[in-house]
Amino acid sequence: MKVLLHTCCAPCATHCVLTLLDEGHEVTLFYSNANIAPQEEWQKRLDAVQALAYHYDLPLLVDTPTHDDWLTQVASGLEEEPERGKRCERCFRYSLARAFAATTKGSYDAFTTSLTVSPHKVSAMIFEVGKELSEIQFLTMDFKKNNGFKHSLELTEKLGLYRQSYCGCEFSIKPVS
Ligand code: SF4
Repeated sequence: MKVLLHTCCAPCATHCVLTLLDEGHEVTLFYSNANIAPQEEWQKRLDAVQALAYHYDLPLLVDTPTHDDWLTQVASGLEEEPERGKRCERCFRYSLARAFAATTKGSYDAFTTSLTVSPHKVSAMIFEVGKELSEIQFLTMDFKKNNGFKHSLELTEKLGLYRQSYCGCEFSIKPVS
């Protein structure tokens, strides 16, 4: 199948790419991520995704969302929510809706997301959002299975990819103590 992989960042996508390729899919990376702040960080993570695309010779679609829109549509009123809370659910919906729109526009067979690699993300919440968008085209792939996260760390180190220290939005940046 032609699969569009919503790529939250290069480190998470490493294991997902190999899993999808192993299953015989054609993979296109989709970088959107309006949640990421500041803009320099968005660019830094994109640079790493471009390196990943180059390494595996994969096409990469770069979206041009705005963080201001994300703040209005997603974070407004939920700034104090903890990670894994309501803001994150809306955040997943925002990114996956853009991935689904790109799936339809680009005539891909299916879409999925690298978000499920992280042990900090609740896969069931992500699946619910994806399935709401498209019961048929969203692939419920739980990439953290089979030591997916550990594998992603190994691949990230091997490929020398930049790995960030916070999830993405300004509300997830931990104060330096
Ligand atoms: S903590 Fe991460 S998942 Fe949650 S809203 Fe911020 S960027 Fe999105």
